[in-house]
Amino acid sequence: MNKVIFVVCDGLGDRPIKQLKNLTPLEAAKTSNLDKLAKEGITGLVHTVGYGIRPGSDVSHLSLFGYDTKQCYKGRGMYEALGLGMKLNKGDVAFRCNLATVKSDLTIVDRRAGRIESAEPFIKELDGALINGVRFAIQPGVMHRTAVVMSGYNLSYKVSDPDPHEIDVKAKKAMPLDNSKEAQFTADVLNRFIEFAHIKLKQNPLNKERSKKKLPEANYLLLRGAGYVEEVQSFFDKYKLSACCIAGAPLYKGIAKALGMDIIEVKGATGTLHTDLEAKFTAAKNALKRYDFVFVHIKATDSCGEDGNFAEKKKFIEKIDKAIRIISNLDDTLIVVTADHSTPCTLKTHSADPVPILMNGIGVRVDDVTKFGERACANGGLGHIIGLNVMPEIMNLLGKSQLYGN
Ligand code: ZN
Repeated sequence: MNKVIFVVCDGLGDRPIKQLKNLTPLEAAKTSNLDKLAKEGITGLVHTVGYGIRPGSDVSHLSLFGYDTKQCYKGRGMYEALGLGMKLNKGDVAFRCNLATVKSDLTIVDRRAGRIESAEPFIKELDGALINGVRFAIQPGVMHRTAVVMSGYNLSYKVSDPDPHEIDVKAKKAMPLDNSKEAQFTADVLNRFIEFAHIKLKQNPLNKERSKKKLPEANYLLLRGAGYVEEVQSFFDKYKLSACCIAGAPLYKGIAKALGMDIIEVKGATGTLHTDLEAKFTAAKNALKRYDFVFVHIKATDSCGEDGNFAEKKKFIEKIDKAIRIISNLDDTLIVVTADHSTPCTLKTHSADPVPILMNGIGVRVDDVTKFGERACANGGLGHIIGLNVMPEIMNLLGKSQLYGN
């Protein structure tokens, strides 16, 4: 085998749900294709970042790709900004950012400004602002979402989130998180930019119109997840595998870009429940002609978990199962299906519960597991592994592992 399709179903893992006869959504779903892949392959459970660690999607993906986040993780912002196609240079600091609604005393009324259709017309005039020698770039994402990049000298990502992550409280000031001059400088300049943006946004004629229509004004920038831009060893340099990414949501494209993977844009790949899974898997199959490693990210399993909607999660897993037939009979290709973390519907957030994994391809040692599910995979031949073990296992199955010792 020379090729890999690596499918990550975000937040796939779950816990037993009473209404599903104490099965998880994955166990309750009818998944004949995934079950066949598991039956004819090897399975296990992955603790993506470490035992008992409740991971964010950024660190869990980096770990699955074999990057030790203790060494390389410098905040989420850069991945979001890269995912929106922003240009980043070493030393920049990037943030995720929402357009939000605040009252005159900066109390947050709506963290998403009524989920405005597009942030672009509001933020256009903020892009390129220069404060104390620091240039601010801002670009729109989906709906109220944007990313902000600070470029200049002596910047630090050790600044707190101005976004308090809740409503009916006042927006916070960015604060330095260490005693460095750089963190103090970055926090000061960032606070000035936020004030400047607030003044400009209040004056924006579109907000005057929104106010007349009694819609929440998009009058404030809520920033979070400061990330420092540093180069890491590329995926190709690490594994000598040419790699590409098929994803809908910006974060995953950003992570892939940071590792030097190419991004394949697929029409209909939205990162939502309505994403075109058939188009994504067809694109993955076609990408094997040009790439050794194809990373496919599927987001909505996580969104269903965060909404606590187990029925929808089960239904969406069945959709994945139907579409995955497209890649289930390929020659010369190792199929890996797993998740970046669990998002139990009962918790509506990420948990540290390990996630199932299957690896299917010619020559793979088969275990006795016949279903793809949390408790079935607990009996799998891979056992319990951590995320950093996944790529070495893949390299071993591809016959590309370096011999250790003599
Ligand atoms: Zn995730």
